[in-house]
Amino acid sequence: MDDTKTMALFEVPQAQVAINGSDRKFPVRRIYCVGRNYAAHARESGGDPDREPPFYFMKPADAIVADRSSVPYPARTNNLHHEIELVVAISKAGRNVSVEEATACIFGYAVGIDLTRRDLQSEAKKNGRPWDTAKGFDCSAPVTAIHPAAQTGHPTSGRIWLEVNGEVRQDGNLDEMIWSVPEAISELSTLFALAPGDLIFTGTPSGVGPLQRGDRVTGGVEGVDDIAITITG
Ligand code: MN
Repeated sequence: MDDTKTMALFEVPQAQVAINGSDRKFPVRRIYCVGRNYAAHARESGGDPDREPPFYFMKPADAIVADRSSVPYPARTNNLHHEIELVVAISKAGRNVSVEEATACIFGYAVGIDLTRRDLQSEAKKNGRPWDTAKGFDCSAPVTAIHPAAQTGHPTSGRIWLEVNGEVRQDGNLDEMIWSVPEAISELSTLFALAPGDLIFTGTPSGVGPLQRGDRVTGGVEGVDDIAITITG
């Protein structure tokens, strides 16, 4: 049988993340991110935590850094920021998913850092331009292995923290989220059809700040995992 007609011109690597306690990998389809989902961070970003509905942006799947602990300082920025986040891994398709149904779409949880070129984001905000260059650059999404919900449960509280060179920069709690994980999933599913392989970065607590080359960044979410990366030249 001649199947050459259906062969791709070249192979493109599938972004994937380890699954804790398994030899299998979680293939990444899309990376959604929730903006301003903790009240204190919404305020430090110039927003109003009481009035704004959740909003979303995306990173490309291949922005994932899952297999190594070093991340290169990106080009075209002088203000690379850290944002520690709880990451949700989706394994069930859904659109217009209710808040009650949302938990059933979740495969598990990981810890990620939404790396941000803050200077480019500020420029984009000022000019009403897209955030892609600020948020979706190469290696902008370091993430731990995914921990199946069977291991973690569905965390709704617990410390979420980040240190730079041993100094605490972010220290919050999941219970400070403006929109809970099920609420964020439900709203997102009215905008996009969710599918297995989707990851959702669920927002960061206050204390975001700049990283320098050589910085050792550690952080974690209580009951999920710890993450550690070094920013290289
Ligand atoms: Mn973020």
